[in-house]
Amino acid sequence: MMIPAKRKAVVEHALCVACGCCVKVCPLSAISVYHGHYAQVDPTRCVGCGKCMKECPASVIHVEEVAQ
Ligand code: SF4
Ligand code: SF4
Repeated sequence: MMIPAKRKAVVEHALCVACGCCVKVCPLSAISVYHGHYAQVDPTRCVGCGKCMKECPASVIHVEEVAQ
């Protein structure tokens, strides 16, 4: 049986400016700024809604399909 792919946010860490805009809009508190350096996603909480991606001023978040 095929298990459906799920969508998750992925951050390009090297290009993140750690502004925290993504953290404020995530409805599931699935994204946080790691030690003030870059945003990181908790894939166990992220549902791939894309709100963070739309908010990111540096356009460094992408929602991708991931195999489960
Ligand atoms: S895609 Fe949605 S759930 Fe996932 S980190 Fe971004 S705002 Fe949060
Ligand atoms: S909104 Fe974009 S630039 Fe700002 S902390 Fe989140 S991923 Fe980094």
